[in-house]
Amino acid sequence: MQIDILTIFPKMFESPFQESILKKAQEKGLLKINLIDIRSFSRDKHKKVDDYPFGGGVGMVMKPEPIFEAWEFVCASNPDLPTKTILLTPQGRTFSQAKAQELSKLKRLILICGHYEGIDERVREQLVDEEISIGDYVLTGGELPAMVLVDAVARLLPGVLGSEESALDDSFSDGLLEYPQYTRPRVYRGLEVPEVLLSGDHEKIRLWRRKQSLLRTRQKRADLLKKARLSEEDKKLLMEN
Ligand code: SAM
Repeated sequence: MQIDILTIFPKMFESPFQESILKKAQEKGLLKINLIDIRSFSRDKHKKVDDYPFGGGVGMVMKPEPIFEAWEFVCASNPDLPTKTILLTPQGRTFSQAKAQELSKLKRLILICGHYEGIDERVREQLVDEEISIGDYVLTGGELPAMVLVDAVARLLPGVLGSEESALDDSFSDGLLEYPQYTRPRVYRGLEVPEVLLSGDHEKIRLWRRKQSLLRTRQKRADLLKKARLSEEDKKLLMEN
């Protein structure tokens, strides 16, 4: 997958993209991330990328020309690749695991990060296929939301997570929260790991985990449980408590 990120702060991405899974994904050639500095497309002699809003009001608005030209440059660099352009904005649909799964099937994404009061509306109208928010709060810029999106999508790309890691059981993957996890030591400060996990009985462990996952979801996120498609076995497990 190729992800092109249009931003006025490309340096913000350097450290997060050079660590852990994202670093490995790029090294394995499974993910290519291009950071495009919108400012370098400004024709203004001071490299300005923002201006006052028409109609007055506080704050600045990102100008359309550098974003249009950056976007056209990026599209021209690989014109045959099917592309989806996403604007990070608090006004978009809220990001979710289901959306991350959907995006992970695509070959290429272009992400546009806003700043200041946001971007000129004509960018949204002409270039953007989809608007995504990472939650109902307002951040300073689209860079952190873009990092969140890239991280969530990258770990779902085939081959990115090693055999010892899996996204399949993660919370939200099947509409439920994940079961509790334990590791060594077996007893810590008198607190013991549930016996069933040491039993070696795979079926018992599977049932215990499924039940914990159901109970946890009911306790912490009843809204998710209501929407989840439960099997007869799930219903039985929930009835046990
Ligand atoms: N004035 C805008 C509004 O009320 O909708 C908010 C602008 S915000 C200060 C600047 C930029 O940060 C936005 O253009 C967007 O790219 C990004 N941003 C802020 N909060 C976000 C969120 N929750 N999800 C995605 N992007 C966000």
